[in-house]
Amino acid sequence: MIKTYILAIWDSIHSALVGMKITIEHLFYKNVTHQYPNVDARVSSGTAAMPSYARNRIDFIPEACTACNLCEKACPVNCIEIESIKVVEGDTDQPMMKNGKPRKQWISKYNIDFTKCCYCGLCVNACTFDALKMTDFFEYATYDRKDLYYHLSEMTPEMVNNKKQMLENNTLKIKAEKAQLAHDTSI
Ligand code: SF4
Ligand code: SF4
Repeated sequence: MIKTYILAIWDSIHSALVGMKITIEHLFYKNVTHQYPNVDARVSSGTAAMPSYARNRIDFIPEACTACNLCEKACPVNCIEIESIKVVEGDTDQPMMKNGKPRKQWISKYNIDFTKCCYCGLCVNACTFDALKMTDFFEYATYDRKDLYYHLSEMTPEMVNNKKQMLENNTLKIKAEKAQLAHDTSI
């Protein structure tokens, strides 16, 4: 009877010691927890950059964009909005592409709603012109959802109105020229 009693006590102590063994061992292991945000994990782990496959905030490079809309179509949650305006022939402000060729479209709107974005990366993959890339930047939490709606076009509202007006004037001019030509040939 006493023997069983003592064995039961020993069993309890033994099982507690086995459990504590792991805990005690870990007291001597090197820390792997990063005290984020006080310590930047990239710095404390000795890596300056995020891994190449990391998905963070997306960057838009307007001078590479052709307004093909492929990224907008590829986005599964419809969080990209694009609008463009055709560059009118003779526009002295005509923007240039990254490759040095004149751009054919003004990118009047390029918005990404990061409250919806699921960081799938499909838009980046769809862009064959390297106008979208994943950045290293992941610390952009905000207190206001509106701040996560990114307006990435470089055009001001005045510029957009101006270029729309130019295009409209040009369209009217072409129509008038065509009408005049048709009139002249019918005489
Ligand atoms: S990462 Fe995915 S969800 Fe986010 S904008 Fe690109 S396609 Fe849309
Ligand atoms: S896929 Fe690339 S080039 Fe086409 S609209 Fe999107 S960002 Fe611009």
